[in-house]
Amino acid sequence: MQIKSAEFVMSNSDVAKCPKSMLPEYAFIGRSNVGKSSLINMLTHRKSLAKTSGRPGKTQLINHFLINKNWHLVDLPGYGYARVSKSTKKVFQKFITAYFSQRKQLVTAFVLVDIRHEPQPIDLEFMQWLGENGIPFSIIFTKADKLKPKAIDNHVEKYKHVLLETWEDMPNYFVTSSSKEIGKDDVLNYIDELNGN
Ligand code: GDP
Repeated sequence: MQIKSAEFVMSNSDVAKCPKSMLPEYAFIGRSNVGKSSLINMLTHRKSLAKTSGRPGKTQLINHFLINKNWHLVDLPGYGYARVSKSTKKVFQKFITAYFSQRKQLVTAFVLVDIRHEPQPIDLEFMQWLGENGIPFSIIFTKADKLKPKAIDNHVEKYKHVLLETWEDMPNYFVTSSSKEIGKDDVLNYIDELNGN
């Protein structure tokens, strides 16, 4: 898929106020610093699209971008645990779970993880939550330029090993690097396919 246009639509913290349009939507999420803004800018071939909504608090907002006038790319804030009062139970921030539970336009989520790190509990728990709630997702490994091919394979294998303890199949995954433009076409072509092209 060629990106012909990419425009900022709106930011808000309330899923009920997200665009009413029924265009298919793809959400990008991960811990802060995982390389999400860089990845979005690489995919859309824009220097700072993911920052056009840049103002304090942006990280706690749901940011919609209209791509090629026919689908939405959604930049979600980094996830973390929100503590439930008087309980040790951990849950993800409310508006992130609200977004995934309520947004009918969502086709799939892309969960970003830094390829250099061992599988982290919060990422695994988030994927678990998505799976249990029937929300389709793929994994995007970021910063692949930081590792040699063999180490990349090792890290992907570790993820497979951990995920296959719980799930029957490994989710779709992509190995990317925004600095070296790796994986761009794979992700865009996957979205194109899901859009029925
Ligand atoms: P975000 O907080 O998830 O939006 O992450 P950013 O896109 O702002 O990136 C966080 C840091 O990682 C920045 O210093 C980026 O320059 C760096 N970074 C992001 N993507 C890559 C990548 O593909 N390769 C390398 N080497 N560094 C990256």
